[in-house]
Amino acid sequence: MKRDYYEVLGVGRDATLDEIKKAYRKLAMQYHPDRNPGSKEAEEKFKEAAEAYEVLSDEERRRRYDQFGHDGLRGGDFTGFTDIHDIFSRFSDIFGGAFGGGIFDEMFAGTRSSRRRTQRGTPGSDLKIQMPLTLEEIATGVEKTVKVRKYVVCDSCRGTGAREGTAPSPCRICGGSGEIRQVSRSLFGQFINVVPCSACGGEGTVITDPCTACRGDGRLPGETTIKVCVPMGVADGNYMTLRGEGNAGRRGGEPGDLIVQFRELEHADFERLGDDVAYDLYISYPDAVLGAEIEVPTLGGRVKMKIPPGTQAGRILRLREKGLPRLHGHGRGDQLVRINIFVPTKLTQKEREHIRELRSLPGVQPGDEKPKKGLFGKMFGGSP
Ligand SMILES: [Zn+2]
Ligand SMILES: [Zn+2]
Repeated sequence: MKRDYYEVLGVGRDATLDEIKKAYRKLAMQYHPDRNPGSKEAEEKFKEAAEAYEVLSDEERRRRYDQFGHDGLRGGDFTGFTDIHDIFSRFSDIFGGAFGGGIFDEMFAGTRSSRRRTQRGTPGSDLKIQMPLTLEEIATGVEKTVKVRKYVVCDSCRGTGAREGTAPSPCRICGGSGEIRQVSRSLFGQFINVVPCSACGGEGTVITDPCTACRGDGRLPGETTIKVCVPMGVADGNYMTLRGEGNAGRRGGEPGDLIVQFRELEHADFERLGDDVAYDLYISYPDAVLGAEIEVPTLGGRVKMKIPPGTQAGRILRLREKGLPRLHGHGRGDQLVRINIFVPTKLTQKEREHIRELRSLPGVQPGDEKPKKGLFGKMFGGSP
């Protein structure tokens, strides 16, 4: 069970961004892994606070959270933190501000170098692709297979970059850590400056006999096929992050992520209004007067719809639950059907005569009986 983010940071629901920032800094200092070595509990608290901050410091995410709670964040761009190192890289501005330049470097030097030592190569970059979707696909959800051109791990050397049968050797300059530490003294105390080793490019190893297929890079340009399960009800601009499906890293480095952004294609018949879809229906004057049962298209196929007698042009009728599924909730939106009266322009002589006859009937003329005021607004996008 996840704790309430406001409770985690110990701030009120009306807290300002500044108060949220301050509260997070305090917790980050308190539970920082360098201050609580080996404490699993402190690490969890540290992550929990970072997650709460990530949500509440972003206006859009905070709004969704206020409205829908933790459920409101599913399927969006927020994924939480799987790795404590993510937190440092994402909030470097906060940590920098909290601790000040030099001291910041010293405090975090340990955390950063321990990461680099456990990691080989250089991480691959993230990739972003656009995925066009029809409204019908959005209505049902869809599984799509896409080809992605990207760097893939070299088969010949399995990503090491070293020729078959050989292995990269530890860098002699930095002793394999990939870093050079420079210690300097100042009025404020001792500063430790950590810079990447220039001899090995920070990787800690050097390749003396490179793989011929990839020339020591450990990766090659290639193509992969990826299956993407698009959830029902996504909107234009929503995206999904597929961990590790981006470019392969150099020399066994971690792969980047693949970011799939959804694009909604324009529909010939429907206009999307949030979870509702709008449809313009044209009916004949007699049908409007007498009422009728008319077939209309919906995202799920054609359905019969009752037009009540005396239906005025511009009236909006609702087909319940014929809209789009709600991404963060239950049920579906509606289909809004706006009534338009079809005015024919191509008539035969005989048809014209009938209409003329119709005109002569006193009951068909507006006279004093007019539709209620307020219809104008409805026709121009007012609420139905
Ligand atoms: Zn290779
Ligand atoms: Zn080195």
